[in-house]
Amino acid sequence: MSKDSVNKAVELLKAHKSTGKVSGLTCPQCDRPTVEVWFTEAQPGRFRSWFACSDCRFEARVQLSGRPVHFDKSRVRADLQARDAEIMDNAKFPEPE
Ligand SMILES: [Zn+2]
Repeated sequence: MSKDSVNKAVELLKAHKSTGKVSGLTCPQCDRPTVEVWFTEAQPGRFRSWFACSDCRFEARVQLSGRPVHFDKSRVRADLQARDAEIMDNAKFPEPE
């Protein structure tokens, strides 16, 4: 993910946190109020927030240090969680032989 999209994700995270909105956030790419917020907990206690536009292909992910303030199990998306789980698996240090 480029630095630019990280910045966009941080802006979306701020907007989401201050308003509590999980949908209707303004997309930084197409400028429409079509960004939805999703959460994942790919491993216990390892949360991510995802921002995905339903109108264009904009997508951004933010790593969180704890449980998201507006965390809601009904906002967990299985496909995104599977992607996060895969990233975490790949990030593991190889076992010593
Ligand atoms: Zn968009």
